[in-house]
Amino acid sequence: MAHPAPPVVSAAPRLWLTRKPGECAFPIGGEGATLISCCNPSARQTYCPAHRRLIRAPTETGERFVRGVLDWLNRQSARDAAP
Ligand SMILES: [Zn+2]
Repeated sequence: MAHPAPPVVSAAPRLWLTRKPGECAFPIGGEGATLISCCNPSARQTYCPAHRRLIRAPTETGERFVRGVLDWLNRQSARDAAP
């Protein structure tokens, strides 16, 4: 079973409106004009490395794993349905 990702520590979160280039935009609280962003260093990316990992799209390996589980379940139910 996969372990849950550890929480990302945002060193100095600030209002999104005061975020500078090179600071993580990931929203960690508030909304609208009071939206608070992570603001960890993000190089030229929108999000810091930890938040990029959090929001990464499923990998092909992950999709293949899910397909494998579904195939296995289908085989099991076909076997269970057999006389
Ligand atoms: Zn971040």
